[in-house]
Amino acid sequence: MTTIKDRFCPKCGRPSDTDGLCNSCRAADTPWAVCDTRVTSTHCPGCGATKLVNTWTDTNRERAELAPDLARSAVHFHPDVKKRSIAVDVRDISPNRSRARLSITGSLYGLPVEKTCTVELAWHKEQCDRCNRLTGSYYEGIVQVRADERDLSPFEMQRAAAIATQIEDTLQAGGERLSFISDMTENRDGLDITVGSQHIGLLIVQGITAQLGGRYTTHPKLVGEKNGRQLFRITYLVRLPRYQRHDVVKLGRTYAEIEQVDSRHVRVFDLSEGRSRAVNEEEIVRWIGNARNAETALVAYVSGGMMGLLDPETGATKEMQKKPWQAANAGENVQVLRDGDTLVVMR
Ligand SMILES: [Zn+2]
Ligand SMILES: [Zn+2]
Repeated sequence: MTTIKDRFCPKCGRPSDTDGLCNSCRAADTPWAVCDTRVTSTHCPGCGATKLVNTWTDTNRERAELAPDLARSAVHFHPDVKKRSIAVDVRDISPNRSRARLSITGSLYGLPVEKTCTVELAWHKEQCDRCNRLTGSYYEGIVQVRADERDLSPFEMQRAAAIATQIEDTLQAGGERLSFISDMTENRDGLDITVGSQHIGLLIVQGITAQLGGRYTTHPKLVGEKNGRQLFRITYLVRLPRYQRHDVVKLGRTYAEIEQVDSRHVRVFDLSEGRSRAVNEEEIVRWIGNARNAETALVAYVSGGMMGLLDPETGATKEMQKKPWQAANAGENVQVLRDGDTLVVMR
Protein backbone atom coordinates (compact mmCIF):
# COMPACT_ATOMS: atom_id res chain seq x y z
CA MET A 1 0.00 0.00 0.00
CA THR A 2 1.25 3.45 -0.88
CA THR A 3 1.61 5.74 2.01
CA ILE A 4 0.17 9.05 0.87
CA LYS A 5 -0.24 9.97 4.48
CA ASP A 6 3.52 9.98 4.84
CA ARG A 7 3.62 13.23 2.91
CA PHE A 8 2.78 16.39 4.79
CA CYS A 9 2.56 20.03 3.79
CA PRO A 10 5.58 21.89 5.20
CA LYS A 11 3.46 24.97 5.78
CA CYS A 12 0.26 23.83 7.45
CA GLY A 13 1.30 20.33 8.41
CA ARG A 14 -1.75 18.70 6.91
CA PRO A 15 -1.46 15.71 4.57
CA SER A 16 -0.43 16.69 1.05
CA ASP A 17 -0.74 14.94 -2.34
CA THR A 18 2.74 16.04 -3.31
CA ASP A 19 6.07 16.59 -1.65
CA GLY A 20 5.57 20.34 -1.57
CA LEU A 21 2.81 22.59 -0.31
CA CYS A 22 -0.72 21.25 -0.14
CA ASN A 23 -3.19 22.58 -2.70
CA SER A 24 -4.81 25.12 -0.41
CA CYS A 25 -1.45 26.52 0.70
CA ARG A 26 -0.29 26.69 -2.91
CA ALA A 27 -3.49 28.47 -3.89
CA ALA A 28 -3.18 30.87 -0.96
CA ASP A 29 0.41 31.66 -1.98
CA THR A 30 -0.31 32.30 -5.65
CA PRO A 31 -1.34 35.78 -6.83
CA TRP A 32 -3.88 34.21 -9.14
CA ALA A 33 -5.48 37.39 -10.49
CA VAL A 34 -4.11 40.93 -10.60
CA CYS A 35 -6.14 43.97 -11.62
CA ASP A 36 -4.79 47.17 -13.12
CA THR A 37 -6.28 50.11 -11.27
CA ARG A 38 -6.96 52.04 -14.44
CA VAL A 39 -7.37 51.34 -18.13
CA THR A 40 -7.68 53.91 -20.88
CA SER A 41 -9.72 53.80 -24.04
CA THR A 42 -8.85 56.31 -26.73
CA HIS A 43 -11.52 57.19 -29.23
CA CYS A 44 -12.00 59.83 -31.89
CA PRO A 45 -14.72 62.40 -31.12
CA GLY A 46 -15.18 62.97 -34.85
CA CYS A 47 -15.93 59.48 -36.11
CA GLY A 48 -15.89 57.23 -33.03
CA ALA A 49 -12.91 55.16 -34.18
CA THR A 50 -10.92 53.56 -31.34
CA LYS A 51 -7.16 53.41 -30.94
CA LEU A 52 -5.34 50.31 -29.86
CA VAL A 53 -1.60 50.71 -29.32
CA ASN A 54 -0.95 52.96 -32.31
CA THR A 55 -3.58 51.75 -34.71
CA TRP A 56 -6.95 53.31 -35.28
CA THR A 57 -9.89 51.04 -36.02
CA ASP A 58 -13.44 51.93 -36.95
CA THR A 59 -16.09 50.65 -34.62
CA ASN A 60 -19.81 51.16 -34.31
CA ARG A 61 -19.86 50.00 -30.71
CA GLU A 62 -20.99 52.53 -28.16
CA ARG A 63 -19.19 53.32 -24.92
CA ALA A 64 -21.68 51.20 -22.96
CA GLU A 65 -20.81 48.22 -25.13
CA LEU A 66 -17.06 48.82 -25.00
CA ALA A 67 -16.87 49.32 -21.23
CA PRO A 68 -17.19 45.69 -20.02
CA ASP A 69 -14.48 44.45 -22.40
CA LEU A 70 -12.26 47.35 -21.48
CA ALA A 71 -12.71 46.56 -17.77
CA ARG A 72 -11.95 42.87 -18.35
CA SER A 73 -8.70 43.85 -20.08
CA ALA A 74 -7.48 45.12 -16.68
CA VAL A 75 -7.42 41.58 -15.23
CA HIS A 76 -4.29 39.45 -15.50
CA PHE A 77 -4.69 35.79 -14.53
CA HIS A 78 -2.02 33.40 -13.32
CA PRO A 79 -1.62 30.80 -16.08
CA ASP A 80 -2.73 27.96 -13.76
CA VAL A 81 -6.19 29.48 -13.23
CA LYS A 82 -8.97 27.48 -14.87
CA LYS A 83 -12.70 28.21 -15.35
CA ARG A 84 -12.08 31.96 -15.45
CA SER A 85 -15.05 34.25 -15.24
CA ILE A 86 -15.40 37.99 -14.73
CA ALA A 87 -18.69 39.75 -13.99
CA VAL A 88 -18.60 43.49 -14.63
CA ASP A 89 -20.74 46.30 -13.29
CA VAL A 90 -19.96 49.71 -14.79
CA ARG A 91 -21.01 53.06 -13.47
CA ASP A 92 -20.34 56.33 -15.32
CA ILE A 93 -18.87 58.99 -13.07
CA SER A 94 -18.23 61.78 -15.54
CA PRO A 95 -18.07 62.21 -19.33
CA ASN A 96 -14.55 60.85 -19.30
CA ARG A 97 -14.53 58.50 -16.31
CA SER A 98 -16.34 55.29 -15.43
CA ARG A 99 -15.84 52.91 -12.55
CA ALA A 100 -16.12 49.17 -12.97
CA ARG A 101 -16.66 46.66 -10.17
CA LEU A 102 -15.31 43.28 -11.16
CA SER A 103 -16.23 39.96 -9.53
CA ILE A 104 -13.61 37.48 -10.60
CA THR A 105 -13.88 33.74 -10.09
CA GLY A 106 -11.85 30.75 -11.18
CA SER A 107 -10.41 27.48 -10.09
CA LEU A 108 -6.84 27.06 -8.90
CA TYR A 109 -5.34 23.60 -8.18
CA GLY A 110 -8.85 22.26 -7.95
CA LEU A 111 -9.98 24.86 -5.43
CA PRO A 112 -12.48 27.65 -6.19
CA VAL A 113 -11.06 31.15 -5.89
CA GLU A 114 -12.78 34.51 -6.03
CA LYS A 115 -12.03 38.16 -5.55
CA THR A 116 -13.37 41.59 -6.43
CA CYS A 117 -11.61 44.66 -7.65
CA THR A 118 -12.37 48.14 -8.86
CA VAL A 119 -11.04 49.49 -12.13
CA GLU A 120 -11.24 53.04 -13.30
CA LEU A 121 -12.03 53.42 -16.99
CA ALA A 122 -10.61 56.56 -18.55
CA TRP A 123 -12.29 57.68 -21.78
CA HIS A 124 -9.71 59.62 -23.64
CA LYS A 125 -10.49 61.68 -26.73
CA GLU A 126 -8.05 62.11 -29.56
CA GLN A 127 -8.57 63.08 -33.14
CA CYS A 128 -7.87 60.08 -35.36
CA ASP A 129 -5.55 60.02 -38.35
CA ARG A 130 -8.43 60.26 -40.81
CA CYS A 131 -10.32 63.12 -39.11
CA ASN A 132 -7.01 64.89 -38.68
CA ARG A 133 -6.44 64.78 -42.42
CA LEU A 134 -10.03 65.67 -43.20
CA THR A 135 -10.07 68.75 -40.97
CA GLY A 136 -6.63 69.76 -42.18
CA SER A 137 -7.92 69.62 -45.77
CA TYR A 138 -5.21 67.13 -46.53
CA TYR A 139 -5.66 65.31 -49.79
CA GLU A 140 -3.61 63.34 -52.24
CA GLY A 141 -5.61 63.67 -55.37
CA ILE A 142 -8.55 65.04 -57.26
CA VAL A 143 -10.64 63.03 -59.66
CA GLN A 144 -12.12 65.26 -62.35
CA VAL A 145 -14.93 63.68 -64.33
CA ARG A 146 -15.61 65.41 -67.62
CA ALA A 147 -17.27 64.53 -70.90
CA ASP A 148 -15.80 65.02 -74.34
CA GLU A 149 -17.24 68.17 -75.96
CA ARG A 150 -20.45 68.09 -74.01
CA ASP A 151 -21.77 68.42 -70.48
CA LEU A 152 -21.99 65.50 -68.12
CA SER A 153 -25.53 64.14 -68.09
CA PRO A 154 -27.39 63.95 -64.78
CA PHE A 155 -27.26 60.17 -65.18
CA GLU A 156 -23.46 60.19 -65.53
CA MET A 157 -23.12 62.64 -62.66
CA GLN A 158 -25.17 60.41 -60.39
CA ARG A 159 -23.53 57.15 -61.57
CA ALA A 160 -19.99 58.52 -61.15
CA ALA A 161 -20.79 59.76 -57.63
CA ALA A 162 -22.37 56.41 -56.72
CA ILE A 163 -19.37 54.45 -58.06
CA ALA A 164 -16.96 56.64 -56.05
CA THR A 165 -19.00 56.31 -52.85
CA GLN A 166 -19.25 52.56 -53.22
CA ILE A 167 -15.48 52.23 -53.68
CA GLU A 168 -14.95 54.39 -50.60
CA ASP A 169 -17.30 52.18 -48.56
CA THR A 170 -15.49 49.04 -49.68
CA LEU A 171 -12.04 50.42 -48.85
CA GLN A 172 -13.16 51.81 -45.49
CA ALA A 173 -14.76 48.49 -44.56
CA GLY A 174 -11.50 46.78 -45.53
CA GLY A 175 -9.59 48.97 -43.07
CA GLU A 176 -8.07 51.44 -45.54
CA ARG A 177 -8.95 54.35 -43.31
CA LEU A 178 -7.08 56.99 -45.28
CA SER A 179 -8.80 56.07 -48.54
CA PHE A 180 -11.61 58.53 -48.02
CA ILE A 181 -13.48 61.05 -50.13
CA SER A 182 -13.21 64.44 -48.47
CA ASP A 183 -15.24 66.40 -50.98
CA MET A 184 -17.45 65.84 -53.98
CA THR A 185 -18.76 68.80 -55.96
CA GLU A 186 -20.76 69.18 -59.11
CA ASN A 187 -19.72 72.19 -61.11
CA ARG A 188 -20.13 73.58 -64.60
CA ASP A 189 -17.36 71.41 -65.99
CA GLY A 190 -18.45 68.15 -64.40
CA LEU A 191 -17.81 66.35 -61.13
CA ASP A 192 -14.79 66.86 -58.85
CA ILE A 193 -13.96 64.26 -56.22
CA THR A 194 -11.25 65.04 -53.67
CA VAL A 195 -9.61 61.90 -52.31
CA GLY A 196 -7.34 61.09 -49.38
CA SER A 197 -5.14 58.49 -51.05
CA GLN A 198 -3.81 57.71 -54.48
CA HIS A 199 -5.15 54.20 -54.22
CA ILE A 200 -8.78 55.28 -53.96
CA GLY A 201 -8.24 57.85 -56.73
CA LEU A 202 -7.05 55.18 -59.11
CA LEU A 203 -9.83 52.76 -58.20
CA ILE A 204 -12.45 55.46 -58.75
CA VAL A 205 -11.26 56.39 -62.25
CA GLN A 206 -10.97 52.72 -63.17
CA GLY A 207 -14.48 52.07 -61.86
CA ILE A 208 -16.00 55.05 -63.68
CA THR A 209 -14.40 54.30 -67.05
CA ALA A 210 -15.27 50.60 -66.74
CA GLN A 211 -18.94 51.47 -66.30
CA LEU A 212 -19.37 54.68 -68.30
CA GLY A 213 -16.67 54.29 -70.95
CA GLY A 214 -14.06 56.87 -71.87
CA ARG A 215 -10.47 57.13 -70.78
CA TYR A 216 -8.45 58.59 -67.93
CA THR A 217 -5.07 60.26 -67.63
CA THR A 218 -3.06 61.01 -64.49
CA HIS A 219 -1.20 64.23 -63.85
CA PRO A 220 1.09 64.21 -60.81
CA LYS A 221 2.28 67.46 -59.33
CA LEU A 222 5.08 67.75 -56.80
CA VAL A 223 3.74 69.62 -53.79
CA GLY A 224 6.52 69.23 -51.27
CA GLU A 225 8.65 66.83 -49.30
CA LYS A 226 8.15 64.99 -46.05
CA ASN A 227 10.80 62.93 -44.25
CA GLY A 228 12.88 62.89 -47.41
CA ARG A 229 9.97 61.60 -49.48
CA GLN A 230 8.55 63.62 -52.32
CA LEU A 231 4.88 64.35 -51.95
CA PHE A 232 2.72 64.32 -55.04
CA ARG A 233 -0.79 65.40 -55.56
CA ILE A 234 -2.40 63.69 -58.50
CA THR A 235 -5.14 64.91 -60.77
CA TYR A 236 -7.00 62.03 -62.36
CA LEU A 237 -8.81 63.29 -65.43
CA VAL A 238 -11.66 61.16 -66.72
CA ARG A 239 -12.96 61.93 -70.20
CA LEU A 240 -16.29 60.30 -70.83
CA PRO A 241 -16.99 59.61 -74.48
CA ARG A 242 -18.74 62.24 -76.56
CA TYR A 243 -21.68 59.92 -77.13
CA GLN A 244 -23.25 57.71 -74.51
CA ARG A 245 -25.21 54.52 -74.70
CA HIS A 246 -28.82 55.14 -75.72
CA ASP A 247 -27.98 58.49 -77.26
CA VAL A 248 -29.95 58.99 -80.45
CA VAL A 249 -28.12 60.74 -83.25
CA LYS A 250 -28.76 61.84 -86.79
CA LEU A 251 -26.65 59.72 -89.07
CA GLY A 252 -26.79 60.85 -92.71
CA ARG A 253 -30.51 60.82 -93.46
CA THR A 254 -31.45 58.32 -90.80
CA TYR A 255 -31.48 58.15 -87.05
CA ALA A 256 -29.54 55.71 -84.92
CA GLU A 257 -29.25 54.79 -81.26
CA ILE A 258 -25.75 54.43 -79.80
CA GLU A 259 -25.17 50.94 -78.47
CA GLN A 260 -21.49 50.99 -77.60
CA VAL A 261 -18.56 53.37 -77.77
CA ASP A 262 -14.88 52.54 -77.70
CA SER A 263 -11.89 54.71 -78.46
CA ARG A 264 -12.24 54.56 -82.25
CA HIS A 265 -15.60 53.12 -83.24
CA VAL A 266 -19.19 53.67 -82.41
CA ARG A 267 -21.68 50.84 -82.62
CA VAL A 268 -25.23 51.97 -83.36
CA PHE A 269 -28.66 50.51 -83.88
CA ASP A 270 -29.87 51.99 -87.17
CA LEU A 271 -33.49 53.02 -86.59
CA SER A 272 -34.28 52.90 -90.34
CA GLU A 273 -32.80 49.54 -91.13
CA GLY A 274 -33.49 47.96 -87.77
CA ARG A 275 -30.02 46.49 -87.35
CA SER A 276 -26.74 47.16 -85.54
CA ARG A 277 -23.70 48.44 -87.38
CA ALA A 278 -20.38 50.15 -86.72
CA VAL A 279 -19.86 53.74 -87.81
CA ASN A 280 -17.14 56.36 -87.51
CA GLU A 281 -17.78 59.17 -85.11
CA GLU A 282 -17.33 61.64 -88.00
CA GLU A 283 -20.42 60.23 -89.73
CA ILE A 284 -22.62 61.46 -86.90
CA VAL A 285 -24.32 64.70 -87.90
CA ARG A 286 -25.77 65.71 -84.57
CA TRP A 287 -27.21 64.59 -81.31
CA ILE A 288 -31.01 64.34 -80.91
CA GLY A 289 -31.51 63.10 -77.38
CA ASN A 290 -31.21 60.04 -75.20
CA ALA A 291 -33.61 57.12 -75.41
CA ARG A 292 -33.86 57.17 -71.60
CA ASN A 293 -35.77 60.45 -71.96
CA ALA A 294 -38.16 59.19 -74.64
CA GLU A 295 -41.86 60.06 -74.50
CA THR A 296 -44.71 57.65 -74.93
CA ALA A 297 -46.93 58.03 -78.00
CA LEU A 298 -50.04 56.10 -79.01
CA VAL A 299 -50.19 54.37 -82.41
CA ALA A 300 -53.50 55.62 -83.82
CA TYR A 301 -53.52 53.45 -86.93
CA VAL A 302 -51.35 51.28 -89.16
CA SER A 303 -52.19 51.11 -92.84
CA GLY A 304 -50.41 50.42 -96.13
CA GLY A 305 -46.83 50.76 -94.89
CA MET A 306 -47.70 53.93 -92.97
CA MET A 307 -48.66 54.59 -89.38
CA GLY A 308 -50.25 57.46 -87.53
CA LEU A 309 -48.85 58.54 -84.14
CA LEU A 310 -50.65 60.72 -81.66
CA ASP A 311 -48.17 63.47 -80.75
CA PRO A 312 -48.22 63.45 -76.91
CA GLU A 313 -47.53 67.18 -76.82
CA THR A 314 -50.02 68.54 -79.36
CA GLY A 315 -52.52 65.70 -79.58
CA ALA A 316 -52.30 65.92 -83.37
CA THR A 317 -51.81 62.78 -85.44
CA LYS A 318 -48.57 62.56 -87.35
CA GLU A 319 -48.28 60.15 -90.24
CA MET A 320 -45.00 58.45 -91.00
CA GLN A 321 -43.51 55.46 -92.73
CA LYS A 322 -43.73 52.27 -90.71
CA LYS A 323 -40.34 50.57 -90.95
CA PRO A 324 -40.44 46.82 -91.63
CA TRP A 325 -38.71 46.08 -88.27
CA GLN A 326 -41.24 48.05 -86.24
CA ALA A 327 -43.79 45.69 -84.71
CA ALA A 328 -46.22 48.27 -83.32
CA ASN A 329 -49.97 47.79 -83.85
CA ALA A 330 -52.79 50.27 -83.63
CA GLY A 331 -53.75 50.97 -80.01
CA GLU A 332 -50.26 50.20 -78.70
CA ASN A 333 -47.71 52.64 -77.33
CA VAL A 334 -44.27 53.38 -78.72
CA GLN A 335 -41.38 55.43 -77.35
CA VAL A 336 -40.46 58.54 -79.31
CA LEU A 337 -37.89 61.31 -79.29
CA ARG A 338 -38.50 64.65 -80.91
CA ASP A 339 -36.28 66.15 -83.62
CA GLY A 340 -37.89 69.46 -84.49
CA ASP A 341 -41.23 68.46 -86.00
CA THR A 342 -40.24 64.87 -86.48
CA LEU A 343 -41.11 62.10 -84.04
CA VAL A 344 -38.35 59.49 -84.05
CA VAL A 345 -39.63 56.07 -83.03
CA MET A 346 -37.35 54.10 -80.68
CA ARG A 347 -37.06 50.37 -80.74
ZN1 LIG B 1 -0.74 23.38 3.51
ZN1 LIG C 1 -12.00 60.19 -36.55
